Amino acid sequence: MFDIESIYEAKSVGDAVRALNERPDAELISGGTDVLIRLRAGKGAGRPLVSIHELSEIKGVELQENGDIRIGAGTTFVKITNSPVIQQYIPMLGEAVDTVGGPQIRSMGTIGGNICNGATSADSASTMFTLEAEIVLEGPEGERVVPISEFYIGPGQTVRQHAEVCKYFLIRRDSIDGWHGRYIKYGKRKAMEIATLGCAVRVKLSSDKKLIEDVRLAYGVAAPTPVRCHKAEAILRGRRTDDEMAVEEFVKAALTEVNPRSSWRASKEFRLQLIAELARRALADAVRLAGGKAADEIACWRSGSLAESDMADDTSCKATADSASCDSMADKEVCAKTGSASTDANRRSRTGEEEGGGRDA
Ligand SMILES: Cc1cc2nc3c(=O)[nH]c(=O)nc-3n(C[C@H](O)[C@H](O)[C@H](O)COP(=O)(O)OP(=O)(O)OC[C@H]3O[C@@H](n4cnc5c(N)ncnc54)[C@H](O)[C@@H]3O)c2cc1C
Repeated sequence: MFDIESIYEAKSVGDAVRALNERPDAELISGGTDVLIRLRAGKGAGRPLVSIHELSEIKGVELQENGDIRIGAGTTFVKITNSPVIQQYIPMLGEAVDTVGGPQIRSMGTIGGNICNGATSADSASTMFTLEAEIVLEGPEGERVVPISEFYIGPGQTVRQHAEVCKYFLIRRDSIDGWHGRYIKYGKRKAMEIATLGCAVRVKLSSDKKLIEDVRLAYGVAAPTPVRCHKAEAILRGRRTDDEMAVEEFVKAALTEVNPRSSWRASKEFRLQLIAELARRALADAVRLAGGKAADEIACWRSGSLAESDMADDTSCKATADSASCDSMADKEVCAKTGSASTDANRRSRTGEEEGGGRDA
């Protein structure tokens, strides 16, 4: 049993806004995978809830006529991963949300809840930063659109007002056409694990695939809020895809744009190692997905016969954890475990599921 005063099933987004506006102590609930855990822990107990769980108007993924993609805030992770539109145009997002919790959580949890709870560890957030998602909110004063870069204001805090409901996310065609990306989550186990660190990289290559025309880098858990690394991106623009020096400059700049903390999950120092290493790996992967030659072969992948897809395999990755390049890392766990954290993504990569015939492929 949960200690709540009442639960009101909203009939529409407008109805939810009205109900929230009438009760300043009410909390909005969608999938409930964060709200109910908090209530069970006694936080916010005894409050009324306004539910948007049943609202079909905020569910689903839609490719619009102009090529933009609209993702309803009430869309569950499993629906995003299985959406043909996502698989064809933004496979990276489907992979990122496929790393959340376990199957039950992915069936209930929504992307709206993931972004609106304000957590830096949200697995969709860094990818949404690299997609430059726009967040469409409806409140008592009407609708407003907030770029994701302006949405987070502190740990667990966003610019969303109490009576505002997130309706959908808009991904512009400009952030889809020609872009390819990879999200890597580092966690201490394969499932039911909040990210120790998450890294998202998207790249756009020149037509001959030799130059990085554009790049976006964002992290989760590298700062109190998800963070985009603009200085690092600027360094890589126009450089060759296989320029190792450029990659190291990129990583060095990224380290100046983050501010990780020590927690029971990991020390600040370990997170800094992850910030550097995951950026190298996600970048190399993104370049390869885009059809380019990466500044190879970094860390685990440097080992001659190892294909990147072998990273999915714990044993093969561990086997290279003793390689010279991994020796230079403060914690060999990075090499041994990172691959396992993105197992599902790598499985799809191996089976070709990830690559659709669309604009992102
Ligand atoms: C066992 C377990 C494992 C988990 N593992 C992960 C993980 O690996 N990675 C990860 O990122 N998360 C994880 N989570 C957290 C959680 O599942 C996600 O954050 C999920 O996306 C929350 O979505 P929801 O619909 O359940 O949100 P809810 O719990 O319904 O709401 C969360 C917050 O967002 C607000 N909200 C929800 N929808 C909207 C909306 N449309 N507009 C405005 N505000 C809204 C609510 O008011 C509330 O403050 C885990 C949770 C559990 C219980």
